[in-house]
Amino acid sequence: MIELNCRFCGESLQPTSIGRIVNGYELFSCPKCESIGVLSEPTPDQVKKIYDELFSVGGYDQHREEFRLIKQGKVPRSPYRHLLLKFIETRLKGRKMLEIGGGIGSFGVYAESRGWDYTDFDVSEAAVNFAHDLGIKSNCFSSANPPSLPSAEYDLVVMWEVIEHVYDVKGYLDEIYRTLKPGGMYLLSTPNYYRTAYQKSDFGILGSPPVHINFFTKKALESILTESGFEKVNVYKRRLYFPTKLSFRESKTIFQRLLALEESPTLIGIARKPQ
Ligand SMILES: [Zn+2]
Repeated sequence: MIELNCRFCGESLQPTSIGRIVNGYELFSCPKCESIGVLSEPTPDQVKKIYDELFSVGGYDQHREEFRLIKQGKVPRSPYRHLLLKFIETRLKGRKMLEIGGGIGSFGVYAESRGWDYTDFDVSEAAVNFAHDLGIKSNCFSSANPPSLPSAEYDLVVMWEVIEHVYDVKGYLDEIYRTLKPGGMYLLSTPNYYRTAYQKSDFGILGSPPVHINFFTKKALESILTESGFEKVNVYKRRLYFPTKLSFRESKTIFQRLLALEESPTLIGIARKPQ
């Protein structure tokens, strides 16, 4: 039997099949941290091709639309990300931010509008080109390794819906920990494995391997953040829902999420590097 180190928590344990196959990929879980993922790593060329296509012509049309709006002079303001950033700003003195997987640069534009010194790393050259067009400091890196980052450099690292795309999760968490200043914070969001759609086997093409290759529960995310050395680890189930238009169906969703009648589709993690 091959000895494998868990790519989420680093423990030397044999992953176990959870008996689910999504888009032809079998899903496995770590007996220790309970993170779920595929066992085969997509090659860097595959990864680059997937995201260049998604950003330039494929399924990420929402990002391209955001880019068009920003070019017209609008500052993108996701109400939820706004609330989280404001919360973080009350807890941090420094304003040096790193984003991994910043895409076309919309959060960068928003962060800069709030006075942050912002830098981004993304695996897609197409996304980095969009970001440069918006005047954002964005760097392209190969998915073979996490980007190499200076030690104790940033006050905040953010990853919005990115950790589910990354193969060497432990390697990324270690790099993020290293590049944070003591007392610095890590903020991330990711789909909740228990979201209703996934439980009904509706992963969609953008939520299936080889695009999303990891799936987290609140417990698993708490476990891997703690295992990587972070303290004050909090993983929240996102309860607030901001609809684009107010129909009966949307109003129903607002209350179902708020009252926890429906499992939250998104997990938010906030953790701190010790002082
Ligand atoms: Zn593990």
